[in-house]
Amino acid sequence: MEGRLARLREAMGRRGYEAVWITRANNRYYLSGFRSSAGALLITRERSCLITDFRYVEAARQGAPDFEVHRHGQAPEEDMLAVGRRILEEESVRNVAFEAGDLSWAAGEELRERWRGFEVLPDRGLVEELRLVKDPSEAEAIATACRIAEEALEEALPELKPGVRESDFALALEFAMRRRGAEGVAFDFIVASGPRGALPHGYASERRVEAGELVTIDFGAVWRGYASDVTRTVAVGRVDAEQRRVYEIVRAAQQAGLEAIRPGARGAEVDAVARERIAREGFGPAFGHSLGHGVGLDVHEAPRLAAGSEDRLEPGMVVTVEPGIYRPGWGGVRVEDTVLVTADGYRNLCTSSKELRVL
Ligand code: ZN
Ligand code: ZN
Repeated sequence: MEGRLARLREAMGRRGYEAVWITRANNRYYLSGFRSSAGALLITRERSCLITDFRYVEAARQGAPDFEVHRHGQAPEEDMLAVGRRILEEESVRNVAFEAGDLSWAAGEELRERWRGFEVLPDRGLVEELRLVKDPSEAEAIATACRIAEEALEEALPELKPGVRESDFALALEFAMRRRGAEGVAFDFIVASGPRGALPHGYASERRVEAGELVTIDFGAVWRGYASDVTRTVAVGRVDAEQRRVYEIVRAAQQAGLEAIRPGARGAEVDAVARERIAREGFGPAFGHSLGHGVGLDVHEAPRLAAGSEDRLEPGMVVTVEPGIYRPGWGGVRVEDTVLVTADGYRNLCTSSKELRVL
């Protein structure tokens, strides 16, 4: 955590901030090592303060040893903003930045009102930029989240039979993950069978799977706060030639996208490589979303693998590669892995088979 605070202070210096007010839960966890549903960090050049309420004070003292822990009350003269103001006054700072993407308009206005006399600056992406490149312990946490998810899929797949509800299969998958130590699910699982496969975000419904259908399963686990994000499309009962053809196009596009992952590659370039493979087969318009996104404490974070993305890949970044083809009335196919960018390419954190499985 000390290394992260040092990097934060360098970034503060570059942006001209004398203090920062961190409220986003994952950013508070990233910088302090302590997770809680409420609280704020106030970091100046000299001091690292964690402000929280009665419920968390004791746990914070143990969980965030690099921080001064301050307890706030509920009344206006002792609430979180009052404690923050006192620290800003003690440190004689002139300005303080806050996370504009995390606070509502009303909360931002309140901050300006309550901290009158200080320059209150809306910031975007200060901590998210630090989080772009994962350190080895973060990469291993994501790899573990991938392993748990994929082992759980192996356990749950035999339950995906004709007549089974999408939602019941999603529940079986979640159970299997939890049994393997997942803290939770990274997002509501997508289980999209038959024609519902044409919905890129077809959350598990009450629909019953039928023989002869493709089923797209998009799922992920959380381990030590870190997410995984995996998609496999399988066939139930039997598979016809057209289903297999579309599947193999997506799989080839996914492989091409993976092979384009290397340090220095721009997000737009990697996206284009996979997109071209799909367009070549005449399915360009059926691949309407971007190729991939960063994964870490958030299941969707920077960098973006998308048309127009200038984000440049660096070793230590973790991204998904997830092309798909969606045809209304017919269904869809998506294949997704979460991968770590390495010095000479990438390491796939997902190891389960991408051969089309017929269950
Ligand atoms: Zn996904
Ligand atoms: Zn994804």
